[in-house]
Amino acid sequence: MTQAVLAAVRTGPEKTEFREYPMPDIPDEGALLKVEVAGICGTDVKFYSKPPISGPVIMGHENIGYIAKAGETFKKRRGLKEGDLVFVEHYVGCMNCEYCHKGDYRLCMATDWRKNPEGIRFGYTSAEKAPHLWGGFAQYMYLPWNAIIHKVPDGLSPELAGVVTPMANGIQWALFDCGVGYDSRVLVQGPGQQGLSQVISARQAGAALIIVTGTNKDKKRLDVALKLGADAVINVEEEDPVERIREITCGEGVDVALDCTAGAGTAPLLLGLEALKRKGGTLLVQQETAEFPNFPLAKLCNKYVTVKCARGHNYQSCELALKQLNSDRFPLDLITTHRFGLDKTHDAIKAVGGSGDVIHVSLMPWE
Ligand SMILES: [Zn+2]
Ligand SMILES: [Zn+2]
Repeated sequence: MTQAVLAAVRTGPEKTEFREYPMPDIPDEGALLKVEVAGICGTDVKFYSKPPISGPVIMGHENIGYIAKAGETFKKRRGLKEGDLVFVEHYVGCMNCEYCHKGDYRLCMATDWRKNPEGIRFGYTSAEKAPHLWGGFAQYMYLPWNAIIHKVPDGLSPELAGVVTPMANGIQWALFDCGVGYDSRVLVQGPGQQGLSQVISARQAGAALIIVTGTNKDKKRLDVALKLGADAVINVEEEDPVERIREITCGEGVDVALDCTAGAGTAPLLLGLEALKRKGGTLLVQQETAEFPNFPLAKLCNKYVTVKCARGHNYQSCELALKQLNSDRFPLDLITTHRFGLDKTHDAIKAVGGSGDVIHVSLMPWE
C-alpha cells in the first residue's frame, strides 16, 4: 500500500489542486476506504463555483469503495471485512440522538456543517482537519467509528452502485415524504439524475401517471425519462406546461409535484402549485428557490397543499435504492453516461453542470 494518498482538493471557486496526504493510522473502531467511484451531483456544481467554506476541501459525497483496512472492533461491530464493497453515506451521525436512532442521520447536529462548525460530512469537511481524507475525490477516504455504511449487494457494479444517492433521494422524496404509491399522478420537474430517479421510484411504486418536464437542452434526458417509465414529457420552452398537464390529466391535475430543477428559480415552484389537483396535493420544494417575493400563499392554502422540503435520504431509502439498482427492471445503463479519472476532476464537475447529454457522472480515482 502506498504511503501517500493523492486527492483532488478544492482550494477556491472553480479551482482544483492535487495534493498528497499521509496514509492515516486506522483506529480499532475505524477503517480505510479505497474509493472506487465518487458520484457527482448538482450540489457539487453549486459548491464548486461558490464554496460554502473557505480553505481546502476534498469534495465527493456519493462514495462507493472497498474496505482497504479495518480495525478489529470495526469488523466485529459492522460485520464487514477487508475487500467488501460498500456505500458510505456522506452523513456522519452522533449515533445517540433521536434522529440517528431513527436512521435520519441527515438531521443529526453532528453532521450539520451549516450550523455546527465541528460537524463532519464527507465532501464538505475541511481537509485541514486530521486525518484529512474526508471526501471521495481521492484515492482513499477515512472512515471513523460513526461512518454510516451499507454493504453493496452481490452482483451490483461499483459504477451502478454510484447512482445510489440520487436513487435513495428518489425513494425518500417521492415515496416516503410525498406518499407516491399505487395510482398516484406525479409531476417530476427536471429530468436530471435526480428527476429520473424519482421517475424510477414512482414507477416501481405503482404510480398511474408520471409527467416529466424539461427544457430545450434536456431533449435526450426527456427521451431517457420515457424509456424509464414516464408516461408523458413536456418541453416547457416549446409548450405551455399548465395547459398540457390539464389536458393529460383531463383537467384534474396531479397528486404530487416534485421540483428537481436545481436552481431554475421560482418558475418550477409556481408550475408545481398550478399543476396540483384542486385540493390536497403535495409539493416537494428545494432550497435553491431561496428568495421568493410575493409567493402565492393564498393559492397554496386555498388548494390545501402540503409542502415537503427535500432533505437527502434516510438509512432505509439507501438500502432500498441499492436493491432497486440491483434489479433488472429498468434500463439503468441509460443513466450512467460519463466517467472521468481523478486528474479530470475539474472537467467532471463542469460536465455535470454542462450539456444535456450528461446524466450521471462517475469520478473513478484509480482510472
Ligand atoms: Zn449529491
Ligand atoms: Zn445524531
